[in-house]
Amino acid sequence: MTPTEPMANETTHSAGIHDVAVVGGGLAGLSAACALADSGYRVHLIERRPYVGGRASSYVHPGTGEVVDNCQHVLLGCCTNLIAFYKQLGVADRIRWFDRITFLEPGGRRSLLRSNLLPAPLHNAVAFLRSSALSVADKVAISRGMLTFLQGVPPDNRENFAGWLARHGQTRRAIDRFWNPVLVSALNEDLGRVSVHYAAMVFRTSFMLSAQAGWMGVPTIPLSELYSHAVGFIQSHGGEVSLRKSPDSFQYDERSHRWRIGLEGGNVEADAVVLAVPFESMQKLLPLLPASPDRTSASLDETLGHFQHSPITGIHLWFDRTITDLDHAVLLDTTIQWMYNKTRLQPQRRSGDTGSYLELVVSASKLLVPMPRQEIIDLALRELAEFFPIVREAKLLKAAVVKEVRATFSVTPGLDAYRPGPITAWPGLFLAGDWTATGWPSTMEGAVRSGYLATEALTRAAGNPRKFLRPDLPPQGLMRLFR
Ligand SMILES: Cc1cc2nc3c(=O)[nH]c(=O)nc-3n(C[C@H](O)[C@H](O)[C@H](O)COP(=O)(O)OP(=O)(O)OC[C@H]3O[C@@H](n4cnc5c(N)ncnc54)[C@H](O)[C@@H]3O)c2cc1C
Repeated sequence: MTPTEPMANETTHSAGIHDVAVVGGGLAGLSAACALADSGYRVHLIERRPYVGGRASSYVHPGTGEVVDNCQHVLLGCCTNLIAFYKQLGVADRIRWFDRITFLEPGGRRSLLRSNLLPAPLHNAVAFLRSSALSVADKVAISRGMLTFLQGVPPDNRENFAGWLARHGQTRRAIDRFWNPVLVSALNEDLGRVSVHYAAMVFRTSFMLSAQAGWMGVPTIPLSELYSHAVGFIQSHGGEVSLRKSPDSFQYDERSHRWRIGLEGGNVEADAVVLAVPFESMQKLLPLLPASPDRTSASLDETLGHFQHSPITGIHLWFDRTITDLDHAVLLDTTIQWMYNKTRLQPQRRSGDTGSYLELVVSASKLLVPMPRQEIIDLALRELAEFFPIVREAKLLKAAVVKEVRATFSVTPGLDAYRPGPITAWPGLFLAGDWTATGWPSTMEGAVRSGYLATEALTRAAGNPRKFLRPDLPPQGLMRLFR
């Protein structure tokens, strides 16, 4: 079996775990539920909202009548577990892969980051050296910085990445036009608030290990359409999905070793439970769990207090004409950071006319959160025109601003010490969610990894240990020498 093939269906397991309730229909819960259903467990997925996908979903925007993603989501070639999950759902062909990224300067000058035939980690070197956005001094500083990650990533200690950049003599422009754009979009946080460990991991994993690891994948259909395939998968494997439901109690019966989850309209009974909700929802569920004599619940509550959110803002603009032939681009030196040309990325949106739909993304968008909608749209149009002057003549047909205030948790220095694993002191109760101990930042890949880690722990408890986590992509070229 290749590492990314779906698991074979298996119907035998012992230790009395047959029925599993999964609370939370984001990627953590969906991946856990599908893996369990595929392994022969009877799964009941409980999701509070009317749709699955959690923070990676789409909906009809009330102001525009258009289906919008809550924000553009992208993945990288190194997301082996997410890609395996797409294969299991039969939607891998709904991801379009790009081996190049365009960096745009105000005025429109383009630099292309793309791989060449040199062995890793030199596969981006030619494009990097040709980039007009950086001076020779910037490139020397960046190369010196990247070299320190050759041997591996430093452990998650107390240092933040802004401090590291200063300590490693990075130029202002190297920070503004390289380190900052890459990391703020990957980790959704200001560099003074991210750990050196996760910053180094982003560069080593996606820039250095191999060309394939850094390819960017973009869904060609709206997110909810993509992830709704998981509902069909669970149901076709004998499972149930309850939407618009949230537990109001959890009871554990010591004699039958079964959980009873209180739900409006009928309780759910299960031998095991996977709680796959975000950390702030976990804080709300804790008081509903049975009292824990060893103060597990109090210590988990204390642990959850170390997590913080960071916002992302998506600005959706519909124009009466084509604005650019680019599929996407990083926009340098402005508030808006990424442009995604949704008309090109989701071709089914083309209605034959000449209009276009762009989504602009601002990560770590703390300054935009209190700003009124119209001010954000005006700012976006002003900045966009610096890259694409045609915006000044184009007619804006409609616009939407989506602020996700609790978009991701911040990988602040030292946070790993507080990220819990899947096993809890409650019998048969497991944790999943991007915030748990996955070794990944707040991403779809991290969420799927957490789902698989919880499923592995559950099958071990069931006496039928199974492996769900996929291996990382192997290093290529010279990186084989620096494992
Ligand atoms: C704006 C934005 C942009 C992003 N961009 C990217 C990107 O480009 N690439 C990337 O990899 N990641 C991105 N992410 C991060 C990614 O979306 C998340 O890391 C991932 O989806 C988290 O999945 P999860 O299952 O852990 O949590 P969630 O998606 O939050 O799922 C948890 C689910 O639990 C449900 N729930 C909560 N409480 C209860 C309850 N009491 N009862 C029942 N259900 C409950 C929620 O409704 C939700 O559906 C982005 C996130 C946002 C918000």
